[in-house]
Amino acid sequence: MTRIAVIPGDGIGPEVVEQAVMTLDAFGLGLDFDHLDHVNAGTYLRTGVALCDEDVARVAASRSALLGAIGDPRVASPAYGRGVLLRLRFELDLYVNHRPARLLSDRLSPLRPDRPRAVDCVVIRENTEGLYTGMGGALRAGGEHEIALDIDLSTHRGTSRVVEHAFTIARREVCMVDKANAVEHGGSLWQRCWRAAAARHPDVAARHLYVDAAAMRMVTDPTGFDVVVTNNSYGDILSDVASAVAGGIGTAASANLNPERGFGLYEPVHGSAPDIAGTRAANPVGAILSAGLLLADLGHTAEAAALRNAVDLAVADGETTPDLGGSLDTGKAGQAVRARL
Ligand code: ATP
Ligand code: MG
Repeated sequence: MTRIAVIPGDGIGPEVVEQAVMTLDAFGLGLDFDHLDHVNAGTYLRTGVALCDEDVARVAASRSALLGAIGDPRVASPAYGRGVLLRLRFELDLYVNHRPARLLSDRLSPLRPDRPRAVDCVVIRENTEGLYTGMGGALRAGGEHEIALDIDLSTHRGTSRVVEHAFTIARREVCMVDKANAVEHGGSLWQRCWRAAAARHPDVAARHLYVDAAAMRMVTDPTGFDVVVTNNSYGDILSDVASAVAGGIGTAASANLNPERGFGLYEPVHGSAPDIAGTRAANPVGAILSAGLLLADLGHTAEAAALRNAVDLAVADGETTPDLGGSLDTGKAGQAVRARL
């Protein structure tokens, strides 16, 4: 049996993860789900720890993991999210954040119909370095002379391995995005790692854009992108732009990967969406497509393609939740996908 750890989490997380698990089950591949239902804000509020050492060990011992969302309006402290998501990313060294953006149906595009808009790209975001390591501090804190520092960390190892991964998965082109004209030291390192990887992959075209130009291009001509690789913060923002031009946050999937270990933590891009939690309006497609990424990485390529195709058909038929213009609830939208497998 292939064991998959399941962390439904908070808000709409459990609602969409249930649909993702049912969709995986429909393939009858003998996946064995290990549910960590207690990893949520309720546990954090009661005990101060949502994800304990034993939980991390359970996830690490699994083949892969599926996650809903972590976040709750009752918890103000960033320590909760850091203690779950960042802990898993750092301890399992999930250095690749893989975020595909594909326009599922022409009518979902927010872009002008007379402009190119058939986006089908992957943003590869470096997931363990950059601005999000928590390194930094404040000098003269609290006073009017306060100086706040957040260190933008890039290592040669961290940069070269994520850029190398981008070239490994690219079909035709890797576009490396940085701000080397203003952020000198990190920019120089990213440029060198990118050129070295490009030389190792002469069959893949290598393109470079500064992040401001890349953001603009993602809106004016997203069709030109294949694989975009960039650091943690630029990747955070660019992948949201990509998912927006691909039709919205409810359909965006992601994977946190360590390609060497073959381990992945799969999760929809959206968060816990407390405003719609419990209303059964949550779109399960982001979670279902994340499960599709999991299938592909387990080697079930045909099943992953069938899953994507079933999602496309359900969306084309309007068998969707209200955010995509349909009138189905979460369960029926999931069922609409499964009926088309
Ligand atoms: P978190 O703090 O956990 O990130 P959030 O309040 O930022 O939660 P998101 O999930 O990031 O919420 O999404 C922002 C908004 O987009 C939500 O408030 C919700 O209205 C909408 N949304 C997000 N995910 C979905 C979904 N799966 N289906 C429908 N609407 C969604
Ligand atoms: Mg959010």
